[in-house]
Amino acid sequence: MRIIVCLKQVPDTNEVRINQETGTLIRDGVPSIMNPDDKNALEEALKIKDELGAELIAVSMGPPQAKDVLKEALAMGADEGVLISDRAFGGSDTWATATIISAAIEKIGNYDIVFCGRQAIDGDTAQVGPEIAEFLNIPQITYVKDVKVKGKNLEVVRFTEYGEYVFETSTPVLLTAIKELNNPRYPTVKGIIEAYEETGEERIRVFSINDLDVDSTQIGLKGSPTNVYKSFVPVKNKVSEIIEGESSKDKAVTMVMKLSELNLI
Ligand SMILES: Cc1cc2nc3c(=O)[nH]c(=O)nc-3n(C[C@H](O)[C@H](O)[C@H](O)COP(=O)(O)OP(=O)(O)OC[C@H]3O[C@@H](n4cnc5c(N)ncnc54)[C@H](O)[C@@H]3O)c2cc1C
Repeated sequence: MRIIVCLKQVPDTNEVRINQETGTLIRDGVPSIMNPDDKNALEEALKIKDELGAELIAVSMGPPQAKDVLKEALAMGADEGVLISDRAFGGSDTWATATIISAAIEKIGNYDIVFCGRQAIDGDTAQVGPEIAEFLNIPQITYVKDVKVKGKNLEVVRFTEYGEYVFETSTPVLLTAIKELNNPRYPTVKGIIEAYEETGEERIRVFSINDLDVDSTQIGLKGSPTNVYKSFVPVKNKVSEIIEGESSKDKAVTMVMKLSELNLI
């Protein structure tokens, strides 16, 4: 079985800052992490690998530093990494991103499961996984909470606010993981040494635009059907008032009256 896991390198959310003039994310000096849902996808693939044996390939599209998430994946137990990186891919929206990633997956070939996270904590659209499935023309199950391999098929539990759904699916299939799926493991010391100091570099292939069968009019800023018009951090306007009074009881009565006037109680 061959499992491909799509990992996005994202800025650590607590650190996100936006350049007020350009409306773009300030990435300089901001720590990057593996997108949390993607770590759940990776863990589930590793569990299948541990239990049944599988080849696990981690894929990430991004600038050269996105290699870091691939090394982290190798340290956790992935066999290989593929970094999809080229200036021509810059500015891609979700449609163009999925076009490029699905072309890379086609190039890797012979896959049984494509695992994505449900959504990335920076872009937050949850579109890329389903779009990749559409471009690959394979079935997809999103919001996955449990996966069991049943012979050549998978039994998958999909978890939404409306309830749980149990599906049986043939492969190849694309699944998107949610945090309820598992608790991701920590890399082992041996895994870290291998990934960061020994075989890591040689186990990561880099795909540029010349390696992929993509229509150059469908990728990058120019090939993206959508454009981010403006990015900003919402301003929270807080109004504070200190309630004065002779005693605590007076203050409490005044506060209850004010809350009542505002129809808050
Ligand atoms: C310079 C720049 C310009 C941009 N311009 C636009 C724009 O004009 N319009 C617009 O809509 N967006 C734009 N974006 C955002 C970009 O489209 C999204 O970051 C990207 O498409 C992923 O979407 P998302 O973050 O919503 O991922 P989601 O759809 O939330 O991600 C779902 C899952 O897909 C997989 N995945 C997503 N991205 C990757 C990746 N890069 N590598 C591996 N796996 C991945 C992961 O498994 C992830 O959990 C721009 C980004 C940059 C850096």
